[in-house]
Amino acid sequence: MPTVGMAGGGQLARMTQQAAIALGVSLRVLAGSGDDSAARVVADVRVGDDRSAADLRAFAKGCDVVTWDHEHVPGPHIRELEAAGIACRPGSAALAHAQDKLVMRDRLSALGAPCPAYGRVPADDPFPFLEEFGREHGWPIVLKAIRGGYDGKGVWILRDLDRPAVERLLAEGVDLMAEEHVTFRRELAALVARSPYGQGAAYPVVETVQEDGICVEVLSPAPGLSEDLAAEAQSLALRIAAELGVAGLLAVELFETADGLLVNELAMRPHNSGHWTIEGARTSQFEQHLRAVLDLPLGSTEPTAPVTVMANVLGGDDPDLYPRYIHVMAHDPAVKVHFYGKDVRPGRKIGHVTAQGDDLAEVRERARHAADYLRWGPKMGENR
Ligand code: ADP
Repeated sequence: MPTVGMAGGGQLARMTQQAAIALGVSLRVLAGSGDDSAARVVADVRVGDDRSAADLRAFAKGCDVVTWDHEHVPGPHIRELEAAGIACRPGSAALAHAQDKLVMRDRLSALGAPCPAYGRVPADDPFPFLEEFGREHGWPIVLKAIRGGYDGKGVWILRDLDRPAVERLLAEGVDLMAEEHVTFRRELAALVARSPYGQGAAYPVVETVQEDGICVEVLSPAPGLSEDLAAEAQSLALRIAAELGVAGLLAVELFETADGLLVNELAMRPHNSGHWTIEGARTSQFEQHLRAVLDLPLGSTEPTAPVTVMANVLGGDDPDLYPRYIHVMAHDPAVKVHFYGKDVRPGRKIGHVTAQGDDLAEVRERARHAADYLRWGPKMGENR
């Protein structure tokens, strides 16, 4: 049986382990510490730094394929592994588009994929560019860190030409790009898988609800999305996966606007917008990622219920969540609770819940209730 190495020890690696167990495949994880979310559940953990070439080399030795739990492994280190004959999936060339927002925008524009207007902010003389960009596309504009952002960290809305704010960011050495501020109806995500053999598979297109740049809720399928637009989003994602040579999963985050779809972001790994697939699809995104990177035939993406809703559980002020399981489980035995074994910090993604059924409003309310209660609710025996 093959060994798949995953660099990064977060919840995505943790949930990939669950899928690896069923397939009988060995997962090896490179975690920053033995307390990382995945390190707590994976037998073959190597503790090290996934930004160190030496640690990556030692980790990859003996793996049949290496994949990633996040985007932050440096491209040159991945190229070094590739040069040493290690199968990296996705490879450095594809992954660059998920690591660098400017590379992604340039490539997608060249492919004719619809994107917001954008441009690099010249660090030595930013203001004439920003003034012109704002004049052309209207204020506010969106500033983004070209590399290293996640969960909305690295995205700033600039209401007007706020010179001190821009100067502060540039002084910190952040490479910036500007984007038109898109007026969208809602955000969607199209999740697809592609194997090196060239097989593709698309999940139903979902709606993602964000608060402060963090995804809080995923509705599958996206309510009221026309068949045409759903098919357009799926074919766009499959085409991007093929053109970029992605091996594994590709999540394409989209804006639905009055004039159609725009691509916001790409991720090449299991994605928060796909956690619903654990219960909600015949093949979970974690199993699908393993199948894709191992170049196995892909699994069915057929939904298991008319409606599935996933709600993220964010850390509240109280780290002691377990006593709240009693209410959540007694209240709704069909809600599924997932915890990532992470230390609780306010606002941090520490788990999620999934509910299924026929009626969107009802399923959504059940998922919301469970997630909110886990975060804020009174514990057994407490009167609040
Ligand atoms: P991250 O890499 O941190 O996830 P994203 O580029 O996905 O950053 O942006 C995070 C959120 O910010 C998006 O989900 C969206 O709600 C908002 N956003 C990003 N770009 C734009 C834009 N051009 N116009 C309007 N809102 C945006």
